[in-house]
Amino acid sequence: MNEAVVNRAFLQFRSYLRGIKPQEEDACGCGYDHSQDWDVFGIKIDSPSLYELDLARRSHRWTEVNKIMASFFQAFAQEVTIAEGKILKAAGLPKLNTVRDSLEDDKAEQIQEQRTWTSRFAEMFVSKQIDPEIERQLDLIFEIWIRNLIGSGILPDGLDDLPVYHFHTLNSFAIGLQKALGDIQEELDDALLAPANYSNAYLAKLTNDGMTRITTKLFDHYRGLVTGILSEGIAAGDNPLQIAREIHQRVGEGQLWYWNRLARSESAIALDAAFVSEARENGVEHEQWSTASNPCPICAPLDGLIWRTGEGPRVVYDTHPHCLCTKYAYFGEPDKVQPAAAQSLPYL
Ligand SMILES: [Zn+2]
Ligand SMILES: [Zn+2]
Repeated sequence: MNEAVVNRAFLQFRSYLRGIKPQEEDACGCGYDHSQDWDVFGIKIDSPSLYELDLARRSHRWTEVNKIMASFFQAFAQEVTIAEGKILKAAGLPKLNTVRDSLEDDKAEQIQEQRTWTSRFAEMFVSKQIDPEIERQLDLIFEIWIRNLIGSGILPDGLDDLPVYHFHTLNSFAIGLQKALGDIQEELDDALLAPANYSNAYLAKLTNDGMTRITTKLFDHYRGLVTGILSEGIAAGDNPLQIAREIHQRVGEGQLWYWNRLARSESAIALDAAFVSEARENGVEHEQWSTASNPCPICAPLDGLIWRTGEGPRVVYDTHPHCLCTKYAYFGEPDKVQPAAAQSLPYL
């Protein structure tokens, strides 16, 4: 393999590793202390979250779910890389590889000194204003990014055409239905079971929530950030590489940790929804909480508790992002049934 290709792959890999760790300004809101330092492969990180990272690398107990989560994250990451490349190009900033390269500690200083001006950037630099044509191109880049993730709002017919978000949440939901059905079937032996049901109101609500989360993140947060970073950088007379690095960290690959969290959490939410839906469909009266092995302090007290079906806390919503807890159908007479949990969003 030629050296340039190897270098490129290596830079991308390092960039990804870095991006999977949240920075302080983007604290994940999971309730943990994010003040601890993290250092891996000799990379110095500003203010990452040990705890989130710890949660983020734990595996789900079901192999199928791990596969879906990994595929979901990969699909998100691919879109991030493509969009970041386009954003940098539209603004006349240095290329993504140059930015990645500049993040290598030993090269940072040296590259800082190089001013790579494109004519597009030079014009903005002189006028101290973002060209409206650049803004228009940025709008388009974000529109395409959103369309690739959640579609244009109308679900296409063929499964092959499903956008990234729908494809993976539907798959997680399907796995959840299958697991719950298997669980129930085992207990009820050859009883006639209700078929898996995809067209339920709760799944529709979840999908809508997820689509809103993604749209808000991209349109309201990242899109505004790009303009903000650009105009501040131009006003301050910053090195274009400096500006590109900031976009990389706050909008591009530096944000991969967010997409990893989203991929894992949305999958877990869909699995949980599938369990409740299948259990209800088959008249299962009780559900039992099951944490993964080595549970976190939020979830540990929930392990083994029993609720009436659909009355327990909601995975992720009522626990935390990256929660890998699941529920099982509980048959027989439980010793103790918990009072209905205060759910942040009740099951429909
Ligand atoms: Zn937990
Ligand atoms: Zn949990």
